[in-house]
Amino acid sequence: MADYRLGIDFGGTKIEIAVLDRAGDLQLRERVPNPGIYEEAVIAVRDLVASVDQRLGSVASNLAKPGQLSSTLGIGIPGSISPETGLIKNANATWLNNQPFGIDLDRALNRSVRVENDANCFALSEAADGAGAGNRTVFGIIIGTGMGAGIVVDGKVIGGRHSIAGEWGHTPLPWTRLEEFPLPKCFCGNEGCLERYLCGPELAKDWKGVGHHNTAG
Ligand SMILES: [Zn+2]
Repeated sequence: MADYRLGIDFGGTKIEIAVLDRAGDLQLRERVPNPGIYEEAVIAVRDLVASVDQRLGSVASNLAKPGQLSSTLGIGIPGSISPETGLIKNANATWLNNQPFGIDLDRALNRSVRVENDANCFALSEAADGAGAGNRTVFGIIIGTGMGAGIVVDGKVIGGRHSIAGEWGHTPLPWTRLEEFPLPKCFCGNEGCLERYLCGPELAKDWKGVGHHNTAG
């Protein structure tokens, strides 16, 4: 087991790294803005990992020599990796789509990197020692820039055949009323996706706007 476990939350607007030691205690945490351009984002991750390894005095566990402190790296991304092509798909940070992010990170960092959908990472974490601890089946939902979810059964992420199991954000909102048309367009190509209502920016807009809420009382 590595001395440190580096975990990165690769979000649409920021990239945050957290480091756990062998005991699972948080050692450090750092956040940088996400440049929002693919090549620059790969470099931002590389630099963030390099600075953390330097501060800890650790090296990638696949490069560590005996006696050296080692670290492993996992990264959660908004999107999933296509099992057929290895390319990113379904990312709401759409500039990530169709990019070989995992391969490019391996290369840029000269280490093996585990890449997984961020909602799956979240669901697994909650299933392990969070709100879902002790339950065989856990469905975890994240609402942020977009909306994602993951399913964990018996401590394992269920990815499904297309690695999108649990992703309910691009299902249409049910029971649409006539006055709700036209429905909001989504980056995925559909209209009226759940994610177009249930995500941070849309909830904020709804709260600020006129809306259909009953304000009486
Ligand atoms: Zn959609």
